Amino acid sequence: MTTYKILVVPGDGIGVEVTTWGRKVLEAIARKFNHTFTFDQALIGHTAIEATGNPLPDESLEKMRASDAILFGAVGHPRYDNDPSAKVRPEQGLLRMRKELGLYANLRPIKLFDELLDASSIKPEILRGSDILFFRELTGDVYFGQPRERRDNGNTALDTMIYSRYEVERIARRAFDAARTRRKKLTSVDKANVLESSRLWRETVQEMSKSYPDVEVEHMFVDTAAMKLIKDPRSFDVVLTGNLFGDILTDEASQIAGSMGMLASASLGDQTGLYEPIHGSAPDIAGKGIANPMASILSVALMLDISFEMKAESDTVIRAVEQTLKDGYRTRDIADNQTQIGQILDTHQIGEKIVEKIGRL
Ligand code: NAD
Repeated sequence: MTTYKILVVPGDGIGVEVTTWGRKVLEAIARKFNHTFTFDQALIGHTAIEATGNPLPDESLEKMRASDAILFGAVGHPRYDNDPSAKVRPEQGLLRMRKELGLYANLRPIKLFDELLDASSIKPEILRGSDILFFRELTGDVYFGQPRERRDNGNTALDTMIYSRYEVERIARRAFDAARTRRKKLTSVDKANVLESSRLWRETVQEMSKSYPDVEVEHMFVDTAAMKLIKDPRSFDVVLTGNLFGDILTDEASQIAGSMGMLASASLGDQTGLYEPIHGSAPDIAGKGIANPMASILSVALMLDISFEMKAESDTVIRAVEQTLKDGYRTRDIADNQTQIGQILDTHQIGEKIVEKIGRL
């Protein structure tokens, strides 16, 4: 029997609260299906800065490299958000981790549970049946491009938006392959009417599409994509986009899923995969015990499916979440006017319900 080494990296704020439940769900799956998962823990972000002065200590990076999969929470602390001049910042740990582990492909499935149709700010008749898989490039673009600096005594600032053909090709290949297993449509999002890096992006995807004649490819400007996502979300199947556009569009798309607290993601490269909710450390609710742990729990479902090829186990997690929602239980962020008062649960209570369901399914 294989033993899988899972590293839990809670990070900051609600990252700690939600990964606790991601781990408990993994333990429940191990019990149910007779697997052996071993767990270790590592520091990142503000918590790591406080403990070591470094947002990604070498020890954390070594543990990440040695693990079979990483369950990540979130980084971020208001101290840095309000102080743009801070030289050591939590998100440096996040960006370095992605770069060092070569996690260039961020997969974000956007699928609405029917039970949450009324929790979204978008009309149910527009939403029903939406099922989108985003491929956001994660280690390039303006987030990493050089130079990035202040000039003119700090009065001018610049970042560099940059992509190489190789970077576009490797993420596009994953997106094309995924489209083949779904509805065979790929929407590549760029800003090729204005940006040179987007023109290279589009040219590369156009060339690659010749090798995928069975996949329908459309190219869309990011502004149009932002509009169509809420006007007609069902028209999308696989969406392929760069780091910056993907960051913004997937937050917008979170409204399709009802809340940031419902959206999971997988960050993949050629080695260890990392699984994380798309939300941040949510300092406005951190420590209150009310965070929705379902994005972290659904990230565990992605881990089981992608890193460990445990499809039945992954489906069990998704069904446990679905059944819990069917029973009417909600965290505050996804409650609607039909939710009874006793059915609004805190992080711990809803986590318990999901773990119980796993045991009974
Ligand atoms: P956020 O995602 O932390 O929160 C946005 C809003 O959604 C908040 O009102 C929050 O309460 C709510 N929310 C998010 N997750 C929720 C959950 N699981 N349950 C219930 N409500 C939830 O984004 P933000 O407020 O813009 O950023 C806060 C900090 O997180 C910042 O420091 C930012 O840099 C950082 N951040 C980190 C990551 C990451 O680590 N991957 C991603 C985004 C933001």
